[in-house]
Amino acid sequence: MEKEKIQLANPEGTVIKIEGLYKSFGELEVLKGIDLTVQKGENLAILGKSGSGKSVLIKILAGLLKPDKGNITMLGKQLNQLKPKQLDELRLRMGFSFQNSALYDGMSVYDNLSFPLTMNVKHLSRKQVSDAVEEALDAVGLIDKIKSNPEELSGGQRKRVGIARTLILKPEIMLYDEPTAGLDPVTCAEINALIVNVQQQYKTSSIIITHDLTCAKNTCGRIAMLIDGTFLKVGTFADVFNTNDEQIKKFYSYNFTL
Ligand code: ADP
Ligand code: MG
Repeated sequence: MEKEKIQLANPEGTVIKIEGLYKSFGELEVLKGIDLTVQKGENLAILGKSGSGKSVLIKILAGLLKPDKGNITMLGKQLNQLKPKQLDELRLRMGFSFQNSALYDGMSVYDNLSFPLTMNVKHLSRKQVSDAVEEALDAVGLIDKIKSNPEELSGGQRKRVGIARTLILKPEIMLYDEPTAGLDPVTCAEINALIVNVQQQYKTSSIIITHDLTCAKNTCGRIAMLIDGTFLKVGTFADVFNTNDEQIKKFYSYNFTL
């Protein structure tokens, strides 16, 4: 049922374009010629085993790491040509759900959400702020936790509040790094449904970095398989896994025999 809701790439335009991207750390070559485009409105999964360079790639997209070589165009802007202030402006159009995007435990859920909003958007009335907080919490199904302290929440709920905190700025692009890591299967399914809901409600284009095949299958129209520093295959779930490639077959059977 969920699968029918997933939108495939539509031809409205390219929002992320990665060309010839390379990144090494000393002798360690992590990314060795990455090319990828993400279309407006699509959810694209990047699948790869641990240590394959997924987080490095997402950090480069977020402007947190510099590539050695290659071009990235996000929302029409070429990253390496941006001045720091322009990069900050572009970042405000992107939402991040990263493994380490911790909530502030000393603040209520309400304050955790209102903080980035009032920091980045000036001259909002108290009502505008509270409406925005309520809308974002509603989108992640946690309106009843508005007064809670993050410490009182489960891992899945904290993840949702983190996503709400980024939705409050109405991002055009969402980058998720391992959104289901460390969560139980029921909570994983809830987060997967939320990712699809965000795409539809906020009309975002997203990259979802994961090693969880169920997450990729249930949230994304296309999958890019990162193996040995390049995308070995990009396409629908069926396109990618209907293959004789030994490395892809191994990845598939490992995931589903855990
Ligand atoms: P994953 O696919 O699990 O997210 P990462 O992208 O985090 O993998 O890391 C890919 C490789 O790059 C790993 O071998 C990691 O140790 C290395 N690496 C990542 N960041 C750095 C860094 N800042 N300095 C040195 N090596 C790094
Ligand atoms: Mg990682």
